[in-house]
Amino acid sequence: MIDFEISEEIREIGNALIKFIDQEVVPLEKKHADLLADPRKMYGPDQRYTEEFLALRKTVRMKSAEAGFYNVFGAEQLGGMEMGPFTAAHLYEVMNEKYGPDRPLIHTVVIPSPFTNGLSPILRFLNPDIIDEVCPSIASGEKTLCCGISEPDAGSDVFNMKTTAVKDGDEWVINGTKQWITNSPYADYCMLFAITDPEAFKKRTGTGISGFFIDTKTPGFTVPSVIPVMGAYGSETGIVSLENVRVHKSRMLGKENQGFKVLMTGVNTGRVGMSASCVGMAKWGLEQSLEYSKTRKTFGQPIAEYQAIQIKLAEMAMNIYAARNMVLHCAWKLEKGEKALKEISIIKAFCTEMLSKVMDEAIQIHGGMGLTNELKIEAGYRYARIMRIPDGTAEIQRRTIARQLLSGDTDI
Ligand SMILES: Cc1cc2nc3c(=O)[nH]c(=O)nc-3n(C[C@H](O)[C@H](O)[C@H](O)COP(=O)(O)OP(=O)(O)OC[C@H]3O[C@@H](n4cnc5c(N)ncnc54)[C@H](O)[C@@H]3O)c2cc1C
Repeated sequence: MIDFEISEEIREIGNALIKFIDQEVVPLEKKHADLLADPRKMYGPDQRYTEEFLALRKTVRMKSAEAGFYNVFGAEQLGGMEMGPFTAAHLYEVMNEKYGPDRPLIHTVVIPSPFTNGLSPILRFLNPDIIDEVCPSIASGEKTLCCGISEPDAGSDVFNMKTTAVKDGDEWVINGTKQWITNSPYADYCMLFAITDPEAFKKRTGTGISGFFIDTKTPGFTVPSVIPVMGAYGSETGIVSLENVRVHKSRMLGKENQGFKVLMTGVNTGRVGMSASCVGMAKWGLEQSLEYSKTRKTFGQPIAEYQAIQIKLAEMAMNIYAARNMVLHCAWKLEKGEKALKEISIIKAFCTEMLSKVMDEAIQIHGGMGLTNELKIEAGYRYARIMRIPDGTAEIQRRTIARQLLSGDTDI
């Protein structure tokens, strides 16, 4: 029987999360409003976060870890609470609905990105000694991670990766360049993927690539530049250069040449969180639009009286309703232990595109005000536009959906 009612227990976690943010993070935002409103204070001349801003984020991370939210999705073996996809669907939705876009002390800080930071599922593939060594400081929020997969010539086409790791005694020597790596300019550790068997890798069957857990202070590991995207003055995303970076064999993530499987366990977790975030943010956009359309008057009456505006509001709600139920249904399948490969791709593509449409209409309903950065709707629009690219583009999601359908996975 299909059942994706949000349980009382999960609702309580959601309420506690909102209470925590209201009590611990919102006052910090108010106290540091000057810094947070001025990109020249958040970012230095090198377009990287300033020490002051990084310290604020660390404070929030550590408070969140203490309150039990930072590690809510981390595996128990790593020190997390191991709450499942259903909880993820609910928490990301309520958090985004309540706070909307452009809250740099909330998003990806209170709860880290589901697989590229914090107690990432990828860390389960570390050997137990290394888990004991590194996970406590990651769980406390003191140290952070990044995940290096993409390269200048390998985004959608992961199998065009060029970075190599060559065995030398008990160590691996890594050379190459990674691009678009979120949090790389600030991370303490990098979960990095490189070719370890070029012949096997060439066959494009998923072998020949291995994962490594690297201390970013290791000689040869540098982040020479950051990549600001869409209207941003600075960036969280960087280019990673690897020049003869030596990593001990005990720091491999999973088995030699089996890195692709390791990588995929993380990617799927991330897509549920991202889809639910889009649902929550779209609800925020609809609420703003309802409020504004009831108060903004033209030609002597609220714009909500015009059918042209009503149709927009109705279509926003139709899209959100479809997306929300899709995410919950997919989470329900995952909770049952299904792989739900097709469904994960469906929600990632649908929810990110849905949010783009909703935010676009929200701007239209707000007229000129929608374009100002005062109401933050344009920030929601930028967020939506950006999310259609990372973690697998909309086209790559469709490729996965079609492949699944054509291979017999036609249950819809
Ligand atoms: C903000 C941001 C953060 C990111 N964070 C990380 C990170 O932390 N770690 C990491 O490793 N990577 C990260 N990425 C990289 C991201 O995963 C890639 O950008 C993404 O996979 C797309 O790769 P690409 O940019 O090289 O585009 P390309 O792969 O060059 O694609 C260009 C266009 O061609 C389309 N296309 C490509 N192949 C096909 C096909 N077979 N069929 C149909 N259309 C196709 C694409 O959909 C796209 O429209 C991040 C990217 C961004 C923008």
